[in-house]
Amino acid sequence: MNMSQKPHLLLVKVPSYSDVIAPPLGLGYLAAAVRDSARVSLLDGVRLGLTPKKLYSTAKSLNPDMVGFSVVSAAKSPAVQCIGAVRKALPKAVILAGGPHPTAMPMEFLEETAPHLDFVLRGEAEEGLRILCREFPAQGVQDISPDDLNKIPGMAAIGKDTPICRPPAVREDINDPAMPAWDLMPPGQYPKAPHGAFFRRFPVAPALTSRGCSYGCGFCSVPALTGGKIRFRAPQLVAEELMALKTRFGVQEAQIIDDNFTANKAHALNTCRALINSGVNLPWTCPNGVRMENLDKELIQAMKGAGCYSVSLGLESGSAKVLNRMKKGLSLDHVGERVELLAKAGLEVNGFFILGYPEETRQDMKATLDFAKSLPLTRANFSLFTPLPGCPEWERLSADPAAMEGLTTTFSQVGYVPQGFSRSSLKRQQRKAFLGFYLQRRNAERLLASLRSREAVYYFARRAWHWMGAS
Ligand code: SF4
Repeated sequence: MNMSQKPHLLLVKVPSYSDVIAPPLGLGYLAAAVRDSARVSLLDGVRLGLTPKKLYSTAKSLNPDMVGFSVVSAAKSPAVQCIGAVRKALPKAVILAGGPHPTAMPMEFLEETAPHLDFVLRGEAEEGLRILCREFPAQGVQDISPDDLNKIPGMAAIGKDTPICRPPAVREDINDPAMPAWDLMPPGQYPKAPHGAFFRRFPVAPALTSRGCSYGCGFCSVPALTGGKIRFRAPQLVAEELMALKTRFGVQEAQIIDDNFTANKAHALNTCRALINSGVNLPWTCPNGVRMENLDKELIQAMKGAGCYSVSLGLESGSAKVLNRMKKGLSLDHVGERVELLAKAGLEVNGFFILGYPEETRQDMKATLDFAKSLPLTRANFSLFTPLPGCPEWERLSADPAAMEGLTTTFSQVGYVPQGFSRSSLKRQQRKAFLGFYLQRRNAERLLASLRSREAVYYFARRAWHWMGAS
């Protein structure tokens, strides 16, 4: 590379099976953060159906100086193959990885991908990547001294002499960059397989109003990966982003995919007001489960007034015993009351439930199905518990080799089997829950009415097969 030029950075979302095929916001933010100091390309391996072989030839023809991979735990194996393929195509490029999996298990991931992967950037990688892109023309990042590497937020590397492993980077100010690089991932190029599967208008674009969460649910790795701290975007910026998505990219609907949009009522209210004042007039949903503590009449009306028509709730279980073990901090009475409020306000309400939690019994699962059927839900989803690296249950179960035996984090198979079940009996319980809920006439009709195009039906059927089929 000519040292007067900006380095060429290729960002890659690792290809793997995913129900959701949507613009990768994390990579979009990284691209926007480093555009001053790098020329950036973005490949969404999930949307493009990339294979390691295709990635090899694409990387060779693009010939970037640096390649950054975003890796979730479910895509760990394809990530190892893709990193090997890119190293073969580009022996001199700097290769780094980030995202939930390398953040939670940096040294293990570096070992698994050795000697191809140079660095892991743990946590929110904007600052770390900015430093690497700025330093790169001057000295070549492979020659950065261990002392300098140690100053990079979130850095993990095997190192020449001593391994480096800094804590996950957590950014205080998430208003810079102002929005992701949408031109590198135009929502109109994506298929009808957005977060949560259901939508009314298309194209759909995901957006963030905050990052992180300070709760401590046992099955969730978000607090550990984001420093247990919630940070907020300026509501005005959120409104400007949605306006840009609508006017420049033809977006017809937005999805607020914060880890916890309703965690702070004042922020949620201010965001709704900013959306109303901007006149953006875009329908939106919350397809990630939100917490219910702050969902009172005032907030529900504000959300509805700002265009929200559907909310997903992390209800998790109909068993108080299981909720306690999950450390969810929810009471079943309170849940019923909040779901009623949302339904009465005319919002779609989707319930997320988890089956197969440690110590859960068939009785607990029956209680969950009965509870789901008793609520005025529009839809329900029954996932099987999968302990992900970084979540409190992962730490707890890791101490017991028998509990971890055969554990997978791919989501296409049963991830964890609690005592008293086999893989197939657990899968049967999941099918029973789905059928028990959707064979109720009211729920079946609502489900069918939600599928508004042949493509939406295709992606829903693909998702249903994935959830109901594999064991
Ligand atoms: S499940 Fe939701 S509320 Fe619980 S820790 Fe995760 S993000 Fe926070």
